[in-house]
Amino acid sequence: MRQNDPIPAIEAAHARHLVELPFGDTQDFADADRGFLGTLADPRIVDEDGRIVWDAAGYGFLAGDAPTSVHPSLWRQSTLAAKHGLYEVVEGIYQVRGLDLSVMSFIEGDTGVIVVDPLISKETAAAALALYREHRGDRPVTGMIYTHSHLDHFGGALGVVSKEEAAARGLPILAPAGLVGHAVAENVYAGTAMARRAGYMYGAALARGPQGQVGAGLGQTTSTGHPGIVVPTHEVTTTGETVTVDGVELEFQMAPGTEAPAELHFLVPRYAALCMAENVTHNLHNLLTLRGALVRDPNIWAHYLTEAIQRFGDRADVMFASHHWPTWGRERLVEYIGIQRDLYKYLHDQTLRMLNKGMTGAEIAEDFAMPPALEKVWGTHGYYGSVSHNVKAIYQRYLGWFDGNPARLWPHPPQALAERYVAAMGGVDRVVELARTAYDDGDLRWAATLLDHAVFDSPGHEGARALYADTLEQLGYGAENGTWRNFYLSGATELREGTFGTPVATAAPDLVAQLSPEQIFDAIAITVDGPRAWDLDLRLDVVLTDLDRAFRVTLSHGVLVAVEQPPSGDAQATVSLAKPRLLAMLAGNRDAPGVEVAGDAAVLETLLGVLDPGDPGFEIVVP
Ligand SMILES: [Zn+2]
Repeated sequence: MRQNDPIPAIEAAHARHLVELPFGDTQDFADADRGFLGTLADPRIVDEDGRIVWDAAGYGFLAGDAPTSVHPSLWRQSTLAAKHGLYEVVEGIYQVRGLDLSVMSFIEGDTGVIVVDPLISKETAAAALALYREHRGDRPVTGMIYTHSHLDHFGGALGVVSKEEAAARGLPILAPAGLVGHAVAENVYAGTAMARRAGYMYGAALARGPQGQVGAGLGQTTSTGHPGIVVPTHEVTTTGETVTVDGVELEFQMAPGTEAPAELHFLVPRYAALCMAENVTHNLHNLLTLRGALVRDPNIWAHYLTEAIQRFGDRADVMFASHHWPTWGRERLVEYIGIQRDLYKYLHDQTLRMLNKGMTGAEIAEDFAMPPALEKVWGTHGYYGSVSHNVKAIYQRYLGWFDGNPARLWPHPPQALAERYVAAMGGVDRVVELARTAYDDGDLRWAATLLDHAVFDSPGHEGARALYADTLEQLGYGAENGTWRNFYLSGATELREGTFGTPVATAAPDLVAQLSPEQIFDAIAITVDGPRAWDLDLRLDVVLTDLDRAFRVTLSHGVLVAVEQPPSGDAQATVSLAKPRLLAMLAGNRDAPGVEVAGDAAVLETLLGVLDPGDPGFEIVVP
């Protein structure tokens, strides 16, 4: 694939960053290297079929000064995040970092070890556990903690322990209340769109290198092995609750509705160590992840950080999280939690102040400046979240997509708008000419806007596509944010080479299996092709034979509704099947055995005939 070098405007911007940013502060490097015990001889992790699911060696290029094709601040962050191996946090607590997007921690107990947040894939988690044991002895796993409901904090559980062994040994698995429901729902309802967009966000289709993917800020990227879940045996519900596992007391703080809907922090008094899950990391986190999600609440996030300082601040000598490196020293860790608290609260409060003056999200984002005292702390920089998209997310959380201006209430959609703009500007060739001038002047944002219109007007216009790809590439080179860079470079890649679809699916079968019957029916309802189902009026009883539960499923007005009730005589058909078979149906497998239909069999066929699953290859940068 053809790639360009950075244009002078990008090189000049990077030169300024090198002067203006606090590169003299190297504390993060000392912390990221502290306690290093060793790493894998070959840091490539493969699955059963020999497919590489994690390749830390691929980031070997991250050394020395930043090349001009990477923002020097992002280069610095990636250099830190790419470090991999087993690290001692304190004697008794260890972390494997750099072998997945997230960090897996180990808390040693009286007889074995408690695993905290077993990564995304069973392969990476198993490799992390093996690395730990290589250095710390063959200790049995005596407990597991999932700090929150995101896949990178429980997905590799099956690499730590099998479901059978966990059940047989009565292994305690602790998690914040509601974790499983949130975990599966998040990746299913809007899952197809999120997974396609996550491909852009993490740069899964990009080559790694100075002109490609260099990291995602929060970690390098996501592993691509096999996720699953071993369901928790104990839900933590209350702040102040203590649980003793393998002789180690754990004192919990609930932090729901922060970075994840179900999240917790905990203190380990034995080691004077505080785990802050994903609420205190070494970057500005997302309030709205670019792959798409519900907007998070920075105000409650800040509240729980204040509470953490109050509850634990005089009892912790080290703080660790499930991304990035720890912070040592009571004074330093309390100060850092305070800085992170102020970061999220400043974003929240100032965005509200400005929107109450009538500014829109885009206007606030453009004007927003962080306090210089926060800005000079590396860990406040937007490598994963950004001030720009977080401000817009806060606006969205409070006021939604509409900015109140009636001209923007009902504009044409992108393609119709593009046709009109392009015609008004004198045709697509003229638009490309204007974009070329903007590109040469370094106004890449305007060039991208023009070329977006050009390509949505004339998707086959080679000159527009090529310049659009070049423009997105330069925007990528200029981005401090890892996920912005990945978005830009992914867009450039698709313009040059065509769609790469969804490189990494997130709805793993083992997770989908955790859906409740109600969630499965919701997920089926989402796939009903409304217009094709407008005139249908169906009534089925669905008996889930393995659960001994029955649902009345109706389809009318294009709406599928399921209500739990015993089968009754007035259904057009009664369908008996086990839950896994219903899940297979959701996944599009209609013909496998295991489905018994009494009554009018055509009714089920009619229903299945109007299901319309998502498209994992939908277009993004072209219409
Ligand atoms: Zn995470």
